Amino acid sequence: TMAPTTSLKIAVIPGDGIGTEVMPYGIRCLQAVAQAFNISLNFTAFNFASCEYYQKHGDMLPMDWKETLVKFDAIYFGAVGMPDVVPDNVSLWGSLLKFRREFDQYINLRPCRLMPGVRCPLIDRKPGDIDFWIVRENTEGEYSNIGGKIFEGTDRETVIQETVMTKTGVDRVLRYAFSLAQHRPRKHLTSATKSNGISITMPYWDERVHDISLSYPEVRVDKYHIDILTAHFVQKPDIFDVVVGSNLFGDILSDLGPACTGTIGIAPSGNINPDRTFPSLFEPVHGSAPDIAGKGIANPVGMIWAGQMMLQHFGYFDAASLMLQAIEAVLARGDTEVLTIDMGGKGTTQSLGEAIEKEIQAFT
Ligand code: ATP
Ligand code: MG
Repeated sequence: TMAPTTSLKIAVIPGDGIGTEVMPYGIRCLQAVAQAFNISLNFTAFNFASCEYYQKHGDMLPMDWKETLVKFDAIYFGAVGMPDVVPDNVSLWGSLLKFRREFDQYINLRPCRLMPGVRCPLIDRKPGDIDFWIVRENTEGEYSNIGGKIFEGTDRETVIQETVMTKTGVDRVLRYAFSLAQHRPRKHLTSATKSNGISITMPYWDERVHDISLSYPEVRVDKYHIDILTAHFVQKPDIFDVVVGSNLFGDILSDLGPACTGTIGIAPSGNINPDRTFPSLFEPVHGSAPDIAGKGIANPVGMIWAGQMMLQHFGYFDAASLMLQAIEAVLARGDTEVLTIDMGGKGTTQSLGEAIEKEIQAFT
């Protein structure tokens, strides 16, 4: 948690497909809440990191993208990808993954919260039962690029890929997770491990968890092996408060968690550089969704909720909590004229986006 800055400079990158359709409502909701709380938000829009930009320039980003974006406190990102025009690996590696790496966004943060009015795929769960955070290590671990193929073309052909965990890398994600848990009422941290099967890196992870836990005596810590942990996500999601995992385990959990709480259209995500050396990036979990792009029916909640996470990240807790309340109030009302099709309604991006904006304005 950090002290609020006087003015937040936000780089807006709508990207492709429904990213460009949901972004305006994210900004409008943020502007409404900023006005209510007298927060100064400064938005600057960029057309790069989109496939349209790629088609014109042969690259996803301009040469000086880093100098341009580094001046901002945060990046508010829509979605990227036009798979019919630009291969997904080109558009993704050429934009989002560059930001993540170059801006050392070593935390991936996702809420796992059951919202009212959302059909939960888990049996007998109601809002309030599921409310936790997933913290994923975002830079090293299992996704190292170290390894290769040996004895190629022979019957001994073998591939090896190393997992790399550095003390710095492990400790910084754990400290973030502990500190998040410490600021929550339940003060409970769950660590994802597999030290019964992975005999070198995972015991090291456990050891670091124990070591760091000594600096956070108020936080209750437990650990589960990843296999049973995924089962618990489905069967007892109420036991979790903050869950921390390595790059691979965190990756799996951060898709499973939001899937347990309903539609992909509402989930947000933060790629965070907690030290604020570089901007952090906030985005909806969903992609550019070419199948529904251009129809005006995309659910804007993921984008709006990502904006809410951004406010929370910068320490505007009252504004963030009001924004979340506004989203919940609109979803709870269950007005089918307002809700988008993915939520069982007949509404549009506009009807749902504007309903949340109005709800924010009504609170004030
Ligand atoms: P990615 O390439 O990032 O995995 P994608 O662009 O291929 O993503 P998603 O955006 O993840 O696909 O969408 C998967 C499915 O969910 C699609 O059928 C899409 O229409 C639907 N979907 C995604 N986002 C939304 C949304 N905001 N509102 C409604 N439906 C959505
Ligand atoms: Mg895609």
